Amino acid sequence: MSSTQPISSRIRVLSVEDNADDLELVLRELRKAGYELDSVNVDNAEAFREAVERGAWDVILSDFHMPKFSALGALEILHSTGKDIPFIIVSGSIGEAVAVQAMKAGAHDFFSKHHLALLGAAIDREIREAKIRRERHQVVVQLRGAEERYRLMVENIRDYAVFMLDAAGNVLSWNPGAQRLVGYEESEILGQPIDRFFIAEDRAQGVPHDALRSAAEHGSHLGEGFRLRRDGSRFWALCTLDRIGSLEALIGFSAIVRDVTEKKQLLDDLQQAVRARDEFLSIASHELKTPLTTMELQLESLRKLRFKDAHARLSDPKVDRKLETLQRQAERLAILVDNLLDVTRITSGRLDLRMERFDLREAIDTVLARMRESIQRAGCTVSVRSAGQIEGQWDRLRLETMIANLMSNAIKYGATKPVELVTEVDGEVARLRVRDHGIGISPEQQTRIFERFERAVPEQHYGGFGLGLWIVGQIVEAHGGTVRVESTLGQGSSFTVELPRGNREVA
Ligand code: ADP
Repeated sequence: MSSTQPISSRIRVLSVEDNADDLELVLRELRKAGYELDSVNVDNAEAFREAVERGAWDVILSDFHMPKFSALGALEILHSTGKDIPFIIVSGSIGEAVAVQAMKAGAHDFFSKHHLALLGAAIDREIREAKIRRERHQVVVQLRGAEERYRLMVENIRDYAVFMLDAAGNVLSWNPGAQRLVGYEESEILGQPIDRFFIAEDRAQGVPHDALRSAAEHGSHLGEGFRLRRDGSRFWALCTLDRIGSLEALIGFSAIVRDVTEKKQLLDDLQQAVRARDEFLSIASHELKTPLTTMELQLESLRKLRFKDAHARLSDPKVDRKLETLQRQAERLAILVDNLLDVTRITSGRLDLRMERFDLREAIDTVLARMRESIQRAGCTVSVRSAGQIEGQWDRLRLETMIANLMSNAIKYGATKPVELVTEVDGEVARLRVRDHGIGISPEQQTRIFERFERAVPEQHYGGFGLGLWIVGQIVEAHGGTVRVESTLGQGSSFTVELPRGNREVA
């Protein structure tokens, strides 16, 4: 049964034989073994090559020595064609040395012409094995194709680091995306632990180990956080670790890492903006509420006064004082609302400048006249030192707002102390300096205070939206100028604005 039975009774035989009798002997033996034969015989190299290349043979039977050809020559030709066909030598007499030589050259079996009884079984076996070899080869080719496609795919992924880790978390493979993202060459990183990609704080807390354990236990793990590049710089990464194998028979992990720094930044900015807005809303409502509460109180007591004394006159000093307070609070409200309007205009890009030629000193005088009462109330004396006329092409109302904001800070944070206003010309640049001798600003706060809603003092001590300096900065920038602060805590601050005087066209 089984292996001794022909797998198919009809086989295609290519024989290499110069002796017709010997050939007939062999073919007869095969027919006896139950085969039907499609056979062709050749006796020289060219004919053999042609037959091998053209035909689809199940087996080649070859004599060892022939006048014009040999089995070894035939084997060489067969191998050069790349075909895998069972090759059996059938020869007159075969010595051991010859047999070894033939097998080394790739023959599958050999028989003496005088002992052909088992040739059929050998052919059958060789055909079966050749079939298995072909199928295996087919699988290998398919696997190689799949592997090659996989390799090409992984290598062409540029935006993701795709790599494999062994069960202990050491790098086993590294794609060009990983090299691009993390910076290591494949040769440097193979065999290294993933800890390398983690920042020191995370390493200290065992984050890499936890991620591996979680992936091993649950099948996959999604991590997000700072990771390190080869050069030590950080990026915000989204990492997926997938288990390969089972928890009990863990082979390793596949890792996909993506740089999402920009998205994270965007998210942080958004969150910061939302926080700033909420903070601003709470400050704004408080700020707007304070003068309103005072006004309500004053109106209430005016009403009471009127109720008690129907003849109370507006010129009555008591009434006068209350009216004055009312007016002050209304002014404060107006400034707050103006500031808010400025912010909305600036943030919606509607800060159109209306340029006109005027003297900076004029703008200063206008602002100081408007602020006279608040300056008095703050107990400040203001001195102005100017280098004569400083004409320039600016937006008058914006410049007045800018000066008013710097001045109102100077008297707010430098109450009871003198305030100095200095103007200078430096070629094409006009310079304005507002200097107070008040509470001053710490070095850390000096850069922050120009940001929107940023304040360096507690709200309960000094009112304000934290918008004044931001508005100053925006106005100065729109004019193509600069603003800076020099300050020492407890000794006062000096804000310097420099504006180009030319006929700048400002968008
Ligand atoms: P605010 O409405 O709070 O005054 P600003 O934008 O005008 O807002 O100022 C921002 C912060 O800068 C203030 O809260 C304050 O802490 C600080 N600051 C501004 N000007 C001065 C100054 N002349 N002296 C001391 N601190 C100042």
